[in-house]
Order: sequence, then structure tokens, then C-alpha cells
Amino acid sequence: MIEMQSVYKTYPNGVTALNGIDVHIAQGEFVYVVGPSGAGKSTFTRLMFREEKPTKGTVLVNDMNLSKLKERKIPKLRRQIGVVYQDFRLLPRLSVYENIAFALEVIEESPKNIRKRVMDVLDQVRLKNKARFIPDELSGGEQQRVSIARAIVNHPKLLIADEPTGNLDPETSWEIMSILEEINASGTTVVMATHSKDIVDKMRKRVIAIEDGLVARDEHRGDYGYEA
Ligand code: ADP
Repeated sequence: MIEMQSVYKTYPNGVTALNGIDVHIAQGEFVYVVGPSGAGKSTFTRLMFREEKPTKGTVLVNDMNLSKLKERKIPKLRRQIGVVYQDFRLLPRLSVYENIAFALEVIEESPKNIRKRVMDVLDQVRLKNKARFIPDELSGGEQQRVSIARAIVNHPKLLIADEPTGNLDPETSWEIMSILEEINASGTTVVMATHSKDIVDKMRKRVIAIEDGLVARDEHRGDYGYEA
């Protein structure tokens, strides 16, 4: 489902973030992306939803060639991909319900379908009782669960999480991980960039380590491989 062939990324300021990446990720995999700060992890994940374009090389996602994708086709790509960030990025004035419904309203679902779908995903992240709250009234872990609900509401084939537990305490991080595992178990590919040695070492999955813009290691049931 994700294929990168000889991918290079140099930003306009001249910084080279990726230096020849070759990677294949199959539908349904769970992949951790690890590596030192500045290694290129975010750039690597941002290429997958065309937040960035490669300078050179091929990026294929769900059979779409992102190097060649027309601007007007980007929304179609993004509907197939959910994204979760370290800092949640919820709309502060909207309720939990509205934050999630918003993602469906923009694709013109019927009100009845929207209601059903939002309540289903809220159930999935165990937050049905907080539908009317605004983000400020929730803990960090709850906010991250809302952002996950928003990311999966369109049934994406791919969920990209950039340090989803980076702002959370260990216990809350494990709640998030169990939700991500459930989402993966239902067939969604999960790509998660993380600095959490604890999580990577306990939940053995594929580990892609990026260092200096290159794949330094790619292991099935791998470990974090760096000091915490
Ligand atoms: P990581 O996620 O592993 O910390 P990044 O992909 O964010 O790494 O960054 C890789 C390199 O690219 C770093 O040197 C960073 O400063 C640079 N970089 C990242 N984003 C940009 C950008 N938008 N413009 C210029 N340089 C960037």
C-alpha cells in the first residue's frame, strides 16, 4: 500500500531531510518509525499524505503516485488517510462531537449517517459520554482519543500517527496504544513515529529506523534500538 523508491527530499532552505529511501509497507501492517530528532521521520510520514512532495523518487500510496498527483486529487488521497499529531490539533470552539462530525460534513454525508458514524467512533475510543464537551474540558489522553476518532471516522486504509503519545504520561500512552492496536486489528495500516522506547520494546512490531535521511534498520518484531 505504501511504496517509496529512491526518495529524496531537500527543503527550499537547502536542508536534505531524506537521502534515498526505499520502503514497502503492506496493507494491514503496524510500523514504528524511530530515530534521532532531525533524522527525517516527520518528513518521511508527511510524504505519505502529500503534506510534502519528494524532490526525487517515487511515492506510491493506495496505487496513487504522489509525485505526480494533481492538486485537485489531494482531497481524494486525504480521505483515505487519517492523521494524528502529538499536539492533537482539535478545533477549540467545537465540541468533541462537532470536531469529529466536521470531517464527515466536508464530504457531504447525510445527517443521519454522520450521527451514527460519529457515535460509533466515539464508542470505539470510549468517549461516548463526552460528546458535548469541548477540548479544553478533556484530559490530554481524552483529547488524543478524540483526534484518533476524527482520524478514523472516514474508514481510512492508512492511519499515520506522528508521536501520538509524545505529550502523554505512560499510563495514558498505553490506552492510546491499545486503541491503535484495535484499529490495526480491523485492517487499517498504522504508521507511527515515536520516541517511546518503552512502547516499541513492549509491543513488538515492524521497526523502521531512520538516521540521516536513510533507512538505517528495518526489522520485523524489532526493538527501539536506542537508549531511552
Ligand atoms: P524528525 O521528524 O526525525 O525530527 P524531520 O523530518 O522533522 O525529522 O526533519 C529532518 C530535517 O529536515 C531536519 O534537519 C529539519 O530541520 C529539516 N526540516 C524539516 N522540515 C523542514 C521544513 N519545512 N523546512 C526546512 N527544513 C525542514
